[in-house]
Parts: sequence; structure tokens; C-alpha cells
Amino acid sequence: MKFYRDKLMRKHNTLALQARADAFVCVTNDDELLESLGWARTEGVAVVVLGQGSNIVLAGDVQALVVQQAVRGIEVLDTLNSDVILRVAAGENWHELVQWTLQQGYYGLENLALIPGTVGASPIQNIGAYGVELQSVLLQVHARQIADDKPVTLDNAACQFNYRDSIFKRECKDQLVITAIDIQLSRRSSVNISYPALATFFAERPDVEPTPQTVFDAVVSIRRSKLPDPSIEPNVGSFFKNPLLRSEMAALLLAKHPGLPCFSQADGSVKVSAAWMIDQCRWKGHRADDLGVHPQHALVLVNYGSDSGAQLLALASEIVSSVHDAFGVELEVEPRIYGLNP
Ligand SMILES: Cc1cc2nc3c(=O)[nH]c(=O)nc-3n(C[C@H](O)[C@H](O)[C@H](O)COP(=O)(O)OP(=O)(O)OC[C@H]3O[C@@H](n4cnc5c(N)ncnc54)[C@H](O)[C@@H]3O)c2cc1C
Repeated sequence: MKFYRDKLMRKHNTLALQARADAFVCVTNDDELLESLGWARTEGVAVVVLGQGSNIVLAGDVQALVVQQAVRGIEVLDTLNSDVILRVAAGENWHELVQWTLQQGYYGLENLALIPGTVGASPIQNIGAYGVELQSVLLQVHARQIADDKPVTLDNAACQFNYRDSIFKRECKDQLVITAIDIQLSRRSSVNISYPALATFFAERPDVEPTPQTVFDAVVSIRRSKLPDPSIEPNVGSFFKNPLLRSEMAALLLAKHPGLPCFSQADGSVKVSAAWMIDQCRWKGHRADDLGVHPQHALVLVNYGSDSGAQLLALASEIVSSVHDAFGVELEVEPRIYGLNP
């Protein structure tokens, strides 16, 4: 294990923004994690946990020890009649986990194929796509407290999952390093193709039977056709969350803007499409100062060669203001921002 001082971070975030971290270490086992946390306490520096940097914006230098969590390992904890329980270490790659589970005949993660990043980051925003969220399979999150190394376990309810949200973004923010998650998957083949894009995909191909494998293939194919590859066009996926509105507010908005895509939620709120509103404000395809909004996907901000996370945030603010002026709705940025001066 090597500690780096003054580490350049461009390679460690999928927006390819340049910034320096005061110190950086990549940990591949629990002992290395403990040594790193101890080092940070001795040096009196803060700790920032990093996975693969696919949901962060580096708006300036990071005054902290950046601990990249790279501990690997998948363990079958229990095999029940129709289910299996797995413990997956935080440094595993999420998409590789999805592929591995499918190969083993463990089902439930297909809709979450091709989401970049690590398993350890997956509970932070309760990753979700194509009608499925992590919370539907997650049993427990295992972590260590940054302050004193103490191991802690949070069950599903304790994680307080919501749309792109969890306790790890609120009360537990910057308090824990997630070390592993336990998930429960099915050994019986069943699929969820209720999400409109998936339903359409299979409706247009009546000869393709929806199976976990074909759903996985469909998700991969739809995502590849829609989302830019960060290694070619640096991005963090959706830059803004879809706003959740009270049903009365959504009804008023819909009356004014009949084209606005709306999705009723179980708790009575209504999720409205941020992409549609941004598109209506004519941001799609905007490009200036080597930064822009993807021509096919209004939610995706792309770094075409800028070093400046601060400029990217300035563009994001302009988008937020114009959507607010046009629709009276406040967009919220999805990725975590680091390096802003207090
Ligand atoms: C092209 C593209 C498409 C995407 N599509 C989706 C999508 O469909 N659905 C979706 O939900 N997200 C999506 N994302 C966002 C991203 O993939 C997820 O948020 C992912 O979980 C981030 O993983 P990461 O390892 O890169 O986390 P990082 O970006 O490294 O970290 C993100 C946050 O999690 C914290 N964190 C990371 N690991 C740990 C840990 N072990 N312990 C404690 N805290 C930790 C970090 O401190 C940081 O605050 C997409 C991103 C891209 C680039």
C-alpha cells in the first residue's frame, strides 16, 4: 500500500476533471483500510472515500486523504430454497457483479446492468435503473466508522433508502467506509420489464422471450444507445435528479405543460422528468468552454476537455435557474461535489 501526497485526480473521476488531493491511498484489504484511517487521524486530515469516481464532481482541490476502496471478494452466505444470500466486498465492480450473478443463475440485478462504479458506492444513492433499485435486494450494509474504526452493520430499514437517496447522504455522510453489502437474489428466473423502455423493447421483438439474460442484454443495448461512454465523453450519467413533487403541484404543472412526463410514486408524490424540462429550456446540445449538455441526453453534462469543475458547476447553476424560471421547479444535483472552498 502506498500513500501519495499531492495526488492528481483526473484519472480517478469519470468527468476527467483535474484537481489535487492532499493525500491518496488505494486499499485492497481491511488491514490497509485500518492503517489508512489511523494515518488520517494521526495527521489530522479528513477522509474522503472514493470508489471509481463515477458520481463525483471535483470542483477544486480536495483537502483530505482520499481512500479508494478496492477490497474485492464475493461470498455465498446461504442458499435457501429459491434464494441465495451473497456478501459482496465494496471494491467489486458493480457491472461485473451483475454479470457474475447472472452466470451463476442468481437473478434480480439484470435491470441494473452497466451502471458504472463500485459495489461499496451502490447504497449511497440507492442506485436504480429500468424500474429496479438496490433497495429491493439489499439486506445489510457493513461499514467501519471513520472516527474510530468501529465496525457497524445497517439493515435495509436503517439505510432509509429513497429515490437516489439514503442515510449515507444524510446522517451518516462522511462518517462511514462501506466495506461490504449483503444481498438476497432469486434462484428462480423472473423478470421485471414494467419500465416503459423495456416494455417497448420486448413489445417490438415478440420473438424474444423476456428472461433474465434477455433483460440484461436489452438493458445493456438500450443504455449503450442512449448514454455516452465516459471514457470517450467524460460524464457522471444523470447530473440532476428527477424532482419529486406533491401531487397537487404536479397536477398544476401538468395542466400548464401537458407534455411533461410524470410518474406516480408509492408514497403519493409524483416524479417529473428533469430531462424534459431541461430540453424544453433548449439546453440539449449546448456547448461552451469545453463543457456542454449531451446532444441526445439533456440530463448528461459532458466535459469535452475542461479542467474546471467550478465552471461545470456554473453551467449546472445556469440550467437550474432556467428550469426554475420556466417551471418553478428546483433541480437538485445528483453527484457529490468535492473541493469547494467553504
Ligand atoms: C455513464 C453513467 C451512467 C450512470 N447511470 C446510473 C444509473 O443508471 N443509476 C444510478 O443510480 N447511477 C448511475 N450513475 C452514477 C454512478 O454510476 C453511481 O452513483 C455509482 O454507484 C457510483 O459508484 P462509484 O464507485 O464510482 O462512486 P464514487 O463516484 O467514487 O463515489 C460516489 C459517492 O459515494 C461515496 N462512496 C463510494 N464508495 C464508498 C464506500 N465504500 N463507502 C462509503 N462511501 C463511498 C463517495 O464518498 C462519494 O460521495 C451513472 C454514472 C455514469 C458515469
